[in-house]
Amino acid sequence: MEVKGNIHSLESFGTVDGPGIRFVVFMQGCPLRCLYCHNPDTWDSKGLAKYQMTPEELLAEVLRYKNFIAKGGVTVTGGEPLLQAEFLREFFRLCREAGIHTALDTSGYICTPKALAVLEYADLVLLDIKTIDPELHPRLTAVKLDNTLRFLDELEKRGVPVWIRHVIVPGLTDNDEALDKLAEYINHYTVVQKAELLPYHTMGTYKYEAQGLDYKLKEVEPLSAERLANAKEIFKKHGITV
Ligand code: SF4
Repeated sequence: MEVKGNIHSLESFGTVDGPGIRFVVFMQGCPLRCLYCHNPDTWDSKGLAKYQMTPEELLAEVLRYKNFIAKGGVTVTGGEPLLQAEFLREFFRLCREAGIHTALDTSGYICTPKALAVLEYADLVLLDIKTIDPELHPRLTAVKLDNTLRFLDELEKRGVPVWIRHVIVPGLTDNDEALDKLAEYINHYTVVQKAELLPYHTMGTYKYEAQGLDYKLKEVEPLSAERLANAKEIFKKHGITV
């Protein structure tokens, strides 16, 4: 029986998840619990996903927008897409066959052979490194950092282009020393093309209330433009494109 994807939602004209205009697929399920997550409604992998589709069915949906995404492509995000690695590999394989650029947005936490097999058909990986500090990582995400760094090693081995994504949260990751360390770390990888530094904002907090969850960063203000500029400067000093 063919595996079906458990899909939280679809967005036909995404402009912030990879190059160009993209069809964005939000997968259901995530093993992380990032304190600042804007999509807590994707956490529960058995939760009510809007769509259950085979890879072929999802491709058919994407193809309706083929002309619009010709210079962009498809991005699969979540949630954590690699929880559904078999589905994803087949979907990316079909996209490649159809000449559609594929991007995978992942935390890199799932570093199993099945997850790594998806990379054969990924044209770009948006790797979310939540923090380079191994002690802060479990506090911020409820899981250890190790797999994400292993995942980056695997991307390097396979030569898959990578954009690093990093959310800067006041009082947690807005820290010059840690930002410098992260910039230095990723600079050793030839596959890293750029870093996207994302300012913490509070736009997803209403979802916590709606789900009866406690939002733990209630007191944290959005990141200021000055502090974002500061972080960008730190990365630029290492010669990293931001
Ligand atoms: S990895 Fe993404 S979806 Fe999962 S908890 Fe973190 S921010 Fe939310």
